[in-house]
Amino acid sequence: MSLWRDVSEATRTATTSLVEATTNLFDPTIRLGVTGLSRAGKTIFITALVHALTSGARLPLFRAARDGRIADARLEPQPHDYLPRFETEEHLAALIDERRWPRSTTEIAELRLVIEYQSAGWIGRNLGAGRLTLDIVDYPGEWLLDLPLLGKSYAEWSRETLMLSRAGTRLPLAAPWHAHLATLDPDGPLDEVAARQAADLFTGYLRVCRDERVSLSTLPPGRFLMPGRDAGTPMFAFAPLDLTRATAKPGSLHALMERHYEAYKTYLVRPFFRDHFARLDRQIVLVDVLAALNAGPSAVADLERALGDILGAFRVGANAWWSSLFAPRVDRILFAATKADHLHHRSHDRLEAIVQRLVHRAIDRATTLGAKVDVAALAAIRATTEATMRIDGDELPAIVGTPLAGERLGDDVFDGESDIAVYPGDLPADPDRALALGRDAPSPAAADVRFLRFRPPRLARGSDGRIAIPSIRLDKAVEFLVGDALA
Ligand code: GDP
Repeated sequence: MSLWRDVSEATRTATTSLVEATTNLFDPTIRLGVTGLSRAGKTIFITALVHALTSGARLPLFRAARDGRIADARLEPQPHDYLPRFETEEHLAALIDERRWPRSTTEIAELRLVIEYQSAGWIGRNLGAGRLTLDIVDYPGEWLLDLPLLGKSYAEWSRETLMLSRAGTRLPLAAPWHAHLATLDPDGPLDEVAARQAADLFTGYLRVCRDERVSLSTLPPGRFLMPGRDAGTPMFAFAPLDLTRATAKPGSLHALMERHYEAYKTYLVRPFFRDHFARLDRQIVLVDVLAALNAGPSAVADLERALGDILGAFRVGANAWWSSLFAPRVDRILFAATKADHLHHRSHDRLEAIVQRLVHRAIDRATTLGAKVDVAALAAIRATTEATMRIDGDELPAIVGTPLAGERLGDDVFDGESDIAVYPGDLPADPDRALALGRDAPSPAAADVRFLRFRPPRLARGSDGRIAIPSIRLDKAVEFLVGDALA
């Protein structure tokens, strides 16, 4: 049954793509996916991108803008009214009027940007003004981790998840959930309250695994941590059970859990991959490399695994048959380390080299990708400026900003109002060394790199009434993601 349904779904996706391609021959649409794990910087990236394009910001590495070929860029109603809208205006108001970071992504959201441009080429110019529709799809990276569930039964998933939770560092974290699990009889009568309790405790276990940075990347269901609008529905009321039989006894707790698990796949996972993921043309994956380096060895290893898992979702057809049916048509993927403004510009290339190394290791594991891949280190919103500090006769490259209220450095706790200059440390020139520092025991060099969180920059209106939001290498990212479509 499920094979037939999947084949028909694939046909539907293909047909829809064909229709889109045909009707949009002279008015192309790019669906740009923006993803990354929680707090990676998706909301800030999209807000800054939209603001930069619609306000005509200076973007020297984005050729169409540099050459003055963009006549207009404006928001238009998004194509799917059933999806939440990415609230750019609300996010900009938080940044500009209140100087605070906006709410982060918790579920999928969409936004349509229309760009009117002049083509660079002779033929294009003579065809008249071009128009590119850019549909931006913001979604939690955690959702990508659910793809393998489509190929697993409840019994298989249950067995694997339990096995992982009974080994190594996860075992102590799973104690409260395991205690409850021991009270459950899979063959006993179905019990909705017990199923919900088990799901809550299991979710608690997933959350501590993430917070302790133990094994985020390998622990679906991803929506248990990022549920979106459907939180609280019975689809979320399942957890692994110690099963004694492969087939559930009708009316049992096992049968109930299985039913919820299948509903989770049918109503959440499958539609996301079919209706959204498989329709993306371009993808940016945002990565908080600095947070991982800061948190130490297991965080770096975890990040590398997470990147591998995320890349796995983009492996076109290289997976099992069910995954190839949801294979995206993405032809460009940009992996971008965010928050580069936490470092002096001397380290920006080094940060980029670290992402490059991390991604390449992941690509090697993911075999062929079938898409053009690039990396960048950027700050979609630059919260710091640079300065030179003189300490004991030494000149140190510093960054200046307003640390968020409550941030600490040594014994100092900041009030969120005063600016400070800090020497954040330099990343090692050799990316392998930086990653090794992350992976091995903490070393003096690793401990040297410290990242404070800063408030957004003070933003003021210029004489032309526009507000310029400073950024680092946002232009490079835009050029890679859409530059060719505006050539
Ligand atoms: P996501 O939507 O969950 O991926 O994450 P957000 O875009 O909301 O970013 C999470 C937090 O990271 C923000 O609240 C900021 O504190 C910080 N952040 C994100 N992007 C930047 C950036 O470009 N520069 C700086 N300094 N901080 C950033």
